[in-house]
This record gives sequence, structure tokens and C-alpha cells, in this order.
Amino acid sequence: MRRQILRPDKELFRRPVAIVAAHPDDELIGLGSLVPYFQEIRAIVHTTDGAPRNGPDIRNAGVATWLDYAQLRRNEFRASLQAGEIFPDRAICLWIPDQQAAFRMPQLTLRLVSIFTRLRPRFVLTHSYEGGHPDHDSTAAAVHYAVACLRGAGASSPCVLEFASYHASESGMEAETFLQNSLAPFEQRALGDAGRLAKRKLLASYASQQNVLSQFPLCYEPVRAAPEYDFTKPPHPGTLFYERFDWGMNGREWRRLAQAARRRLDLG
Ligand SMILES: [Zn+2]
Repeated sequence: MRRQILRPDKELFRRPVAIVAAHPDDELIGLGSLVPYFQEIRAIVHTTDGAPRNGPDIRNAGVATWLDYAQLRRNEFRASLQAGEIFPDRAICLWIPDQQAAFRMPQLTLRLVSIFTRLRPRFVLTHSYEGGHPDHDSTAAAVHYAVACLRGAGASSPCVLEFASYHASESGMEAETFLQNSLAPFEQRALGDAGRLAKRKLLASYASQQNVLSQFPLCYEPVRAAPEYDFTKPPHPGTLFYERFDWGMNGREWRRLAQAARRRLDLG
């Protein structure tokens, strides 16, 4: 069956949606120009607290502890909602430590099953599987696993749409597009001046993340229907983006954990 190219339009904006992102600010990196247009956001879910326990982030943000840093990022998220006049029914954090979502995929999946069952979004928007950050891939896998659990139980389940974050490229990092591996078609969606300005205004709320956020060109923001992923296979050949950093994970280990989670959830 030929898959249709998804175009975010008035029809989609009217439907009840949930956004599931790994870190505070991912929802804006992927969907910043669109989020204010959704009329019924049942939940914006962050799977992690955005506070890596190791590394310089806490010190660089000028706070004392990981808890302070997590709270700072939560406050920035709430400020971005105010800046965009975005009113989700619920803003949920699942409080998994940053960089550790891969180790909690079964629990994460079950939390999402519960959230989807309770809130009944028609669409869920999440990361694509692209090897950019292990928490992004783990969040994507948990969303797909949660939908598979619901389907397996004969319950209604949301359609999974996905937004782009970032991944490895020959020049270093590629953002604002999906991997060019033709797993699912998409159309690039250019932001234009107004969209870029609006997105920049929202991103400004994340003051502690400006070093990272300034690397995004804010030119495109594609959304597509998610393909059926095989999480036991790498998202692309070669070194994954996160394998270039000391983030405590490599692709082989991540895929082992994804496969173990699948078995533990009885998904075959
Ligand atoms: Zn992220």
C-alpha cells in the first residue's frame, strides 16, 4: 500500500493530540511552529527530566544540583507555554534521569499505555528513530511499543506521527529533516519568516539551552506518519550521532535493550 504524505493542516489541528518528547525543548525543536495551532493538546509528555547526572550541564547552568537543573528546565518549559499561549490539558514529566531512558523502556512503555488509555489522543507526535540521542530513540521506541500493546489488547490506539530532531551526517549533524532512507515519505515544510520568528520567540524561553538551540537553522519543520520501525536494526549505517559523545550508550547496546524491552512487554 502506498503511504500518503502527511500535510499538517486544519483537519489535524482540530484532532486531539499528545506530544511525547524526551527532553524539555525537544517539543519545540521538532514542532515549534505547529504547537500553538493544535486546538486540543491532551498532553505534552516529557519522558526524562532533562538533567544529565554527569557532565558540565549543571555547572554551566549556574545551579548547584541535578534537581535544581531539572527544575530550571521544567520552569523554562512552562515559560515557553506561556510565551506561545499554549494550553495543553496536561503537562506530564515521567522523571526518568536524562541519558537513562534506554534502561527504562518497558516501564516507559507501560506509563505511555496508561496515558494513552486515559487521555485517548487521536494522534501522538514523537521523535523519529534516527540515532541522534539515545533518549530520543528510546522515547520513540516506547511510543511504538505502547501502541503495539494497545493494538494487541484490542484497545483503541493513537496514530503515530513523528517530528525531526537531529542525526549524524557527513558534515557532522543534520537537523530539521528525516533520515534519507525512504522508510516513509515526507515533504519538507519551510517555516518562512513568520514561522521562524515565532519559533525563535518560543525557544528563547529555554535560556539554559541557547548554546545548543542556536545550532538549529530554523528553516524547516517536517512532520510525517511514522514508519513501522525495526528497532533491532540501526537507523542508518555507520557511526550514530550519539556514539561520538560520552553519553553512556552505543547503538549495539541500545538495540539489545530495545529487543529486551520488546520481549519483556510480550511483543514478540
Ligand atoms: Zn532532546
